Amino acid sequence: MPRTKKVKHAGRFGAGYGTNVRRKFVAVESKQRKKQICIFCKKPGVKRKSAGIWKCNKCGKTFAGNAYHLK
Ligand SMILES: [Zn+2]
Repeated sequence: MPRTKKVKHAGRFGAGYGTNVRRKFVAVESKQRKKQICIFCKKPGVKRKSAGIWKCNKCGKTFAGNAYHLK
């Protein structure tokens, strides 16, 4: 059995980060992994380019949004 706590893939951060921080990160990251719905064409083709910058690969529009997920 691997000696990791129940923090899913955030276990890679190891010690030094509190469990709460890692739990939060897992929640944020799993949202991030889903494709976001484009506010222009309403299709789930939006990917995060960098913090707050999103690009839709369906209609090609780039727009600003929340740093980690839309809505
Ligand atoms: Zn779009």
